[in-house]
Amino acid sequence: MKKILVIGAHPDDCDIYAGGCAALWSDRGDQVSFISMTNGNAGHHREAPDKLEKRRREEAKRAAGVLKVSYEILGHDDGCLVPSLENRLDLIRRVRKSAPDLILTHRPNDYHPDHRYTSTLVQDAAYMVTVPLVCPEVPHLENNPVIAYLFDEFTRPAPFRADVAVDIDSVAERKWRALDCHESQFYEWLAYNMRPGTENVPTEAGERLLWLQNTWGEILERPAESCRQRLVETYGSAHGAGVTFAEAFELSEFGGQPGKEELSALFPGQAPGAD
Ligand SMILES: [Zn+2]
Repeated sequence: MKKILVIGAHPDDCDIYAGGCAALWSDRGDQVSFISMTNGNAGHHREAPDKLEKRRREEAKRAAGVLKVSYEILGHDDGCLVPSLENRLDLIRRVRKSAPDLILTHRPNDYHPDHRYTSTLVQDAAYMVTVPLVCPEVPHLENNPVIAYLFDEFTRPAPFRADVAVDIDSVAERKWRALDCHESQFYEWLAYNMRPGTENVPTEAGERLLWLQNTWGEILERPAESCRQRLVETYGSAHGAGVTFAEAFELSEFGGQPGKEELSALFPGQAPGAD
């Protein structure tokens, strides 16, 4: 049994970038914990922050039920996360208590300050989790957990490198249902802020899920397209070429460095010796 800790900035990031793997992990008996560093209380155009936070906590709880993970939402206000010493020490304690084999988080160069500082905080906590005299009240870890970054399309200072790509087609339906739980985001805020306007969002639940798949399908297909070479190397040419939805990860230099065998034990579908 592996322990996987996914640390996102907002109460939907873990689901978007690792929801498929989370379903695969929980199905094979691994323990998956999602943490949202912020409470998501700025992710709306008309909802009051306190009411929005309450909604988002409930949405995350529902999504956690779909993916069979635990979901913890910390109290930092959305848009206001800073890489302070206090926040670093808090994260060191949390990581030690959960003692994960693998941590997933955003890459450090990302458009959103909360994503950037979530990544900074994880990187600042890495290694320090093994130092006994830092936060001595919580026992330190013997080993630095493996850290991998979630997929993105930013290119400066370096484009995403797919060290691992996982075929999530078998659980894509569950990932869609998890995203569907985040009503305040996909059907309200993101429709307003990013695409394609709120006026065309259906009100009926089944229609809305179809609308979500039509509207966000192209975005969720990008990791597979972008990381096709890694998928082919992992699954073989026929299988790898046919994957529609994938999740991909870049190993961080600041976490433990896994060998091939450990990597294949950590991530689903990574049989050692696949062509
Ligand atoms: Zn986010």
